[in-house]
Amino acid sequence: MLDIASEVIQAECPSCKNMLEYTLRQISEEAIITCSCGENIQLVDEKKMAEKTIGIDNLLDKNMDHLLQSLAVK
Ligand SMILES: [Zn+2]
Repeated sequence: MLDIASEVIQAECPSCKNMLEYTLRQISEEAIITCSCGENIQLVDEKKMAEKTIGIDNLLDKNMDHLLQSLAVK
């Protein structure tokens, strides 16, 4: 099943230029991730784009479940 919320995004640590990985869900939660160098990076969901994207994904999943159910009963 497609899970957009678990989609991994990569970004450079502003301090050590190490590549960091985090998920869309962490952005929507505006989580703070810690780099191996000890730098804390505050994720910001600008204009709530991550939250909206996950919301759309959930909506599609629900529609898909509904569709599968309606097919199953026939
Ligand atoms: Zn770092």
